[in-house]
Amino acid sequence: MVLRMSRLMLKTLRDDPADAETASHKLLVRAGYVRRSSAGVWTWLPLGKRVLENVARVVREEMDAIGGQEVLLPALLPRENYEVTGRAGEYGDLLFQLRDRKGADYVLGPTHEEIFTQVVKDQCTSYKDLPVILYQIQTKYRDEARPRSGVLRGREFQMKDSYSFDTTDEGLAEAYRLHREAYIKIFSRLGFDYRIVSAVSGAMGGSASEEFLAPAAAGEDTFVDCPACDYAANTEAVTTVVPPVEGAAHPPLEEVDTPDTPTIETLAAHLGVPASATLKNLLVKVDGEIVAVGVPGDREVDLGKLAEHLAPAEVELVTAEDFTGRPDLVRGYVGPQGLTGVRYLADPRVALGTAWVTGANKPDTHARNVVCGRDFEVDEYLDVVTVEPGDPCPRCGAGLKLDRAIEIGHIFQLGRKYADAFGLDVLGQNGKPARVTMGSYGIGVSRAVAALAEQTADGQGLCWPREVAPADVHVVAAGKALQTELALEVAEKLHAAGVRVIVDDRAGVSPGVKFTDAELLGVPTILVVGRGAADGVVEVKDRRTGEREELSVAEAVSRVS
Ligand code: ATP
Ligand code: MG
Ligand code: MG
Ligand code: MG
Repeated sequence: MVLRMSRLMLKTLRDDPADAETASHKLLVRAGYVRRSSAGVWTWLPLGKRVLENVARVVREEMDAIGGQEVLLPALLPRENYEVTGRAGEYGDLLFQLRDRKGADYVLGPTHEEIFTQVVKDQCTSYKDLPVILYQIQTKYRDEARPRSGVLRGREFQMKDSYSFDTTDEGLAEAYRLHREAYIKIFSRLGFDYRIVSAVSGAMGGSASEEFLAPAAAGEDTFVDCPACDYAANTEAVTTVVPPVEGAAHPPLEEVDTPDTPTIETLAAHLGVPASATLKNLLVKVDGEIVAVGVPGDREVDLGKLAEHLAPAEVELVTAEDFTGRPDLVRGYVGPQGLTGVRYLADPRVALGTAWVTGANKPDTHARNVVCGRDFEVDEYLDVVTVEPGDPCPRCGAGLKLDRAIEIGHIFQLGRKYADAFGLDVLGQNGKPARVTMGSYGIGVSRAVAALAEQTADGQGLCWPREVAPADVHVVAAGKALQTELALEVAEKLHAAGVRVIVDDRAGVSPGVKFTDAELLGVPTILVVGRGAADGVVEVKDRRTGEREELSVAEAVSRVS
């Protein structure tokens, strides 16, 4: 079907929406692709839905190509699944929670490891039923603290999530490799500039993990990138602890047992220091669990600052902007009872170290996910060093770059964490039960639309790569009835040749407005039917380069088909 703008529900805006900070947010709203429904919740209008579907189609094709089987699981899920794995607590306020009329607790799924594990437990009983890769393209819910970048960070958003199930570690490694290859194809086809970086596994648990990052100023991730070799890493990724610096006069770590879960006040009282004190080399344990760590050097725990930001009940999340001015250094931590602390990612030295610090803001609460041995070794000196642009690459020595990026995909080798939680076994080849090992793999389908807009838009507006564009050609009828008639005729010819067409056949809209809209909408080829119409001549313009050419209708049709 030729898409006629005279009938299309589309209203373009000249001005940026007042609350928009990122280019994609501004342009997707101005071009009438999406419309804000509530904070972080978006309506996809006809053109936006086309782009979203194009991304989903590419993802689906490549997932099918690696043998993925598409399913659709509910978004409304019993909360108890997430209690079994402890993720209800780990996700904390990020989880949308609700209760049904009988009093049963539900969540809106933020990601689906738990439920997929149960599906496979039901469906697969023997090693012969594995390996299996399942995927869905589905709506996810996360009550993000600051959903402020349009569809880049929604509270309701579309994700492709897939899960692999194998009986052997080699099988898992192969499923991971297949996904990695599929992701490379997907992001290349979509037209992304992207990097693959090693990543921490965060709330997912598990070991091997890589992120696909799309460099963009609007990104909320920072990564280091070597211009000379293929070294790249998310600054969150580095978990190795720096060994003691030879010859440096660092005092030893001090271990303090506190009787109760500490607050700033109890901590300070126990240590006999004022609540505003600055502490170095402090390690606090409660029942053997580390709840606070002081980082030596110039990024010590400043209790006064912690208290300042954590004490008021209304403080929900302490962000880097609030605290250090470096968004990459601090992550809010939301615990089971609301905010329980913040986790400080010490400034990441490439391949050196990340230290975690947690603080507590009310009695009987603390940041529970600081895990000794996973996040750091306690018997080693925790050092904090910063990476600056130009620092030597650990692999080749060239000067490093530090860039912002948008996380568009994430792949994990989960291992047996979820299978252990739900007792997922199949009958092994030897007749004994074999525990299943899993991987999980995500792509932000709706985020990809905005991330592509970030990377490709220019001063005139959106500028889509062909694979995702809402159409291949935007035909502009610039004139009177003669032009409109010819424009519709050209549009039909193109359509017959298999080209996806939008035609601007609106009456009473000036050519100038139509040209501006064509640039804003960002279809890769603009075909103008103007003065030359009487002689059967049209102009073909490349949206990206601005190159134009006058051609006969027949030439134009064969050129763009
Ligand atoms: P981020 O670091 O940006 O918060 P994440 O690491 O929490 O993302 P994952 O749990 O790895 O996200 O989810 C898989 C993918 O889903 C991400 O790589 C990203 O592309 C997408 N995604 C995650 N959160 C959102 C969101 N709030 N809005 C849109 N897409 C999202
Ligand atoms: Mg997140
Ligand atoms: Mg992330
Ligand atoms: Mg992630």
